[in-house]
Amino acid sequence: MTEVSGSTKLAGVIGWPVEHSLSPAMHNAAYAALELDWVYVPLPVRDERDLVRVLSAAKVLPVVGLNVTMPYKQAMVALCDEVSALALLAGAVNTVHCVGGRLIGYNTDGRGLVEALESEVAFDLSGSDVTILGAGGAAGGALVALALAKAARVTVVNRDLGRAQRLIRRVAERLTDAELLAVPLDDAARETVRAADLVVNATSVGMTASDPSPIPASWLRSEQVVADMVYRADPTALVREARELGATATDGLPMLVCQGATAIDIWLGDAENRAPRDVMRESAERELARSSPA
Ligand code: NAP
Repeated sequence: MTEVSGSTKLAGVIGWPVEHSLSPAMHNAAYAALELDWVYVPLPVRDERDLVRVLSAAKVLPVVGLNVTMPYKQAMVALCDEVSALALLAGAVNTVHCVGGRLIGYNTDGRGLVEALESEVAFDLSGSDVTILGAGGAAGGALVALALAKAARVTVVNRDLGRAQRLIRRVAERLTDAELLAVPLDDAARETVRAADLVVNATSVGMTASDPSPIPASWLRSEQVVADMVYRADPTALVREARELGATATDGLPMLVCQGATAIDIWLGDAENRAPRDVMRESAERELARSSPA
């Protein structure tokens, strides 16, 4: 348990719901390891009206930073005083640095995904063909980070094709090296998914234990890498089916750790990757096992 002193600074995760978040366990373990006088708490915020109030309070309280999760990542773009170019392109802010009464927005989801792909499955993004399932805030962060990591082609496959097209148009205006495409999540996506070297699930499908995979297993190949952003104590249907086929698959826990560690690095104001990823991973895994019914 973190010791709270008279000078303890606050950090936390804003979302609705947030009571099952692994971030408090993960962050507080990191603060203890780094001997930071910070404490991280869940901040359940019911609606956007309350979100504005909470952000006003954060400007005048000793808040070091905030993480933002569903459903506010997109709304946060307009609510920050300053937004990094990467978060603007992604259309989503998941990390806020509170500096001198100003809120500076970042997107660490994409960087977290890229770092996790390198460390977890040694995937070389350079020249790769990637399919992202989903076109929400997490997909936006992933698209920008994958394009910056030199993927040759990134296709966003989404149920709502218009949403995928808008995301692609916004990013393609600024990032011109990679071929960026939008495809509807129906039979038309089969060949796109099959051709990909890497398939990323950035839909919310899989969060409930009974959820099926967002795509049929027959669309996957054994040579592929599959990265599900969703994590559960037991594997998601997508991860399980990919592994049964012989593909390499990882869930969203390594990404969660890397995006959280990147947030701490931003709040510390150094580029040294000081946040202890191993400590954070261990505490997130312990918390996930503890909070999941056997
Ligand atoms: P979001 O903005 O609400 O987007 C949700 C996406 O899921 C949309 O593209 C939506 O499609 C799609 N979707 C929802 N239900 C679907 C269904 N039944 N079939 C097909 N597609 C469906 O959410 P987000 O913030 O991007 O988060 C997406 C997921 O990533 C969540 O599960 C979240 O927990 C996870 N995530 C994990 C990490 C991590 O660190 N591991 C970080 C960020 C996010 P439409 O546009 O057609 O509605």
